[in-house]
Amino acid sequence: MPGVYLSYPFCAQKCTYCNFASGVFPRELEARYLDALAHEIQAHPWQWTPETVYLGGGTPSNLDPAALAHLLDLIPGRPWAEATLEAAPGNITPERARAWAAAGINRVSLGVQSFVDQEIRRTGRKHSAEIVAAEIGVIRDAGIRNINIDLIAGLSAQTAASWSESLDWIERLVPEHVSVYMLEVDDDSRLGQQILLGGVRYGASDVPSDDETAAFYETAVERLHTLGIARYEISNFARPGCESRHNLKYWRLEPYVGFGSDAHSCDGRQRRQNPESPADYIAGGALEPVAAGDDERLFVGLRLSEGVRPTATDWQRFDAPIRRFLDAGLLETDDGILRLTARGVMLSNEVFQEFLT
Ligand code: SF4
Repeated sequence: MPGVYLSYPFCAQKCTYCNFASGVFPRELEARYLDALAHEIQAHPWQWTPETVYLGGGTPSNLDPAALAHLLDLIPGRPWAEATLEAAPGNITPERARAWAAAGINRVSLGVQSFVDQEIRRTGRKHSAEIVAAEIGVIRDAGIRNINIDLIAGLSAQTAASWSESLDWIERLVPEHVSVYMLEVDDDSRLGQQILLGGVRYGASDVPSDDETAAFYETAVERLHTLGIARYEISNFARPGCESRHNLKYWRLEPYVGFGSDAHSCDGRQRRQNPESPADYIAGGALEPVAAGDDERLFVGLRLSEGVRPTATDWQRFDAPIRRFLDAGLLETDDGILRLTARGVMLSNEVFQEFLT
């Protein structure tokens, strides 16, 4: 059953590490954007009933609750098996959380990133560990029981001790799902630019080394495992049965349709992308083809702990690198399924590069 993604690219601030097509845009643009988004959803010929809905961005938790309910009313299939709202901690009130639940939201993904004050300040965020703890209570009291917490390994000022402090909070808060991302260093974020230039702004001179960041990630895998939160995708961990049904569609190349700026759609074979900037999207820019699904099968499927079964064509195209990685102990095979070994996960970018065409 397919999924639906809605993009709301508006944020209260631009976080220093963020390399998404999101940001702080003029208020009047938001009103026009919401009209264009509603129009795109209404114009969609629904030939199937969605199983999952995902509101990402951006910070859709800042969207006016009435506008959120209006958008969700346009999507068939309620109650959805999974309907996720990405939320920034800091202003989640009981009224807001109850409005989300009434609109059909049954899962909240909290962009916490860190529970340590100095690290949080350097990202440009304003929450604290105590605020996150209180707001998780508010969300649960509103009847939303499925909660994800995002963490980033490799933030400025992060140490083994401070990383352990963030993991202690995970143990205290018992979320159903945790995502652990390693800091991405590229030109698309202000922190990434500073690191690449050798600058000091945003704490760029104080980010952990690649080896330290990799060690933080490995610590997280072990700690989460002991808490019964198992890795099912390189960056995603869940209690049994709490894996994200929506996000699994991306890695299994199952169909989904995306609405809004920068949103991707996939019919199982071909992916397409809406214009990246909200202004271009409102102006009605054309959908861009991104990549044929067949070209992505190994690349995305290997992200999953369950692995992927290469097709005869995959074997023809990638026989040499697959055998090389099997010999090097980065891949393992079991009854025709190919998956990354623990070492392969740590070197996954090297592996994936070979399968990108
Ligand atoms: S990290 Fe999230 S809240 Fe921060 S700017 Fe990016 S999309 Fe917005």
